[in-house]
Amino acid sequence: MNLHEYQAKEILSGFGVRIQRGYVASTPENAVAVANKLNEETGSDFFVIKAQVHAGGRGKGGGVKLAKSIDEVYSVSDKILGMNLITPQTPKEGKKVHQVLIAEDVYYPGGSEVEEYYISVLLNRATAKNMIMYSSEGGMDIEAVAESTPELIHTLDVSPSTGLTVKDANEIASNLNLKGNAKEEMISFVKALYDAYDKSDSSLFEINPVIKTSDDKILAVDAKVTIDDNALFRHPDYLELRDVREENPIEVEAKEVGLNYVDLDGNVGCMVNGAGLAMATMDLIKQAGGEPANFLDVGGTADSERVETAFRIIIKDPNVKAILVNIFGGIVRCDRVANGIVDACKNMKDEISVPIIVRLEGTNSKIAKEIIDSSGLNFHSAVEFKEAADKVQKVLETT
Ligand code: GDP
Ligand code: MN
Repeated sequence: MNLHEYQAKEILSGFGVRIQRGYVASTPENAVAVANKLNEETGSDFFVIKAQVHAGGRGKGGGVKLAKSIDEVYSVSDKILGMNLITPQTPKEGKKVHQVLIAEDVYYPGGSEVEEYYISVLLNRATAKNMIMYSSEGGMDIEAVAESTPELIHTLDVSPSTGLTVKDANEIASNLNLKGNAKEEMISFVKALYDAYDKSDSSLFEINPVIKTSDDKILAVDAKVTIDDNALFRHPDYLELRDVREENPIEVEAKEVGLNYVDLDGNVGCMVNGAGLAMATMDLIKQAGGEPANFLDVGGTADSERVETAFRIIIKDPNVKAILVNIFGGIVRCDRVANGIVDACKNMKDEISVPIIVRLEGTNSKIAKEIIDSSGLNFHSAVEFKEAADKVQKVLETT
């Protein structure tokens, strides 16, 4: 589950990480009200208005703007709220902005410049450890730094059993060339940041930029957080942070009916049982030259009702030009699955216009193939795995 910047900052603050303070608003009037409140608390006369969408690169897309007065808070918020923000990390059609964060301007306290750093904590599956990635070249162009000067990005593996040590925190602060008070501040900052990542069961905590102010304070200006869905049961209070407006509507619907569905960019819809087979199927589609439109695991019970639900989800994606059904019938016999597929497709005759390639392997697979072949529907049956993937390519070429 991804969080909005304002939610992530709240969590960080709860763990003692110093943050750029602010309040969220969903109307320009409300933005003005919270700006006044912020002014009373921080004394800041300048505000940063930040679009709250689940995507980075907002600054470049016009979703982060400075307001130098309360009047400007109104006009800038009015402009950003409701806008369709397009950044390198949004879908190409952009994302609608429903909320803005009104934050204190922390860049020019007294007109002096600040230093920007990049710090993230993430799960490194390859080493089965957590990893801290950091750089003195923070700010908007960290991707460019990674590409052109990767030596400026440091990494540090942290064993989840020992956690972040004082030595680790020292190493990070030293490599960022910090001294004195700023160094001490950075040590506390990374310790609290790691603590937040660890205790919230997250797989990513990315802070870009972390800044050092002219008075040597270290604080988080931005925050991108992904919480591990599998650990959400331990954090019932985080459940309400979910913003379904940010999620793919087809994925939301699939989740509601208990299907494991992930939307992808290709044009071959996949209906498979078991996550391992689903991944193998996607690999084979790619090997045959195709691109999967989704990952869909119907799970153990591939009865007609479930198959129909799965077809309905798959065809919601307008990019789907063919569907590959690849089901292994072990305990669920293939002939029953075949009948389920035929029944589902008969029910949906007017809705499914794309060809369907069916491969059923396992118990009673021969009877299943006969059922599919004699159905009179737009099916192409296959016996071998590779044959199924090749048939998908063939129907795509001829349609
Ligand atoms: P992102 O573009 O989605 O990563 O959004 P960020 O929260 O990182 O903000 C983008 C950029 O806005 C930062 O890199 C800063 O340059 C700028 N910015 C953020 N906060 C402030 C602030 O308090 N004052 C000023 N002047 N600029 C800010
Ligand atoms: Mn950022």
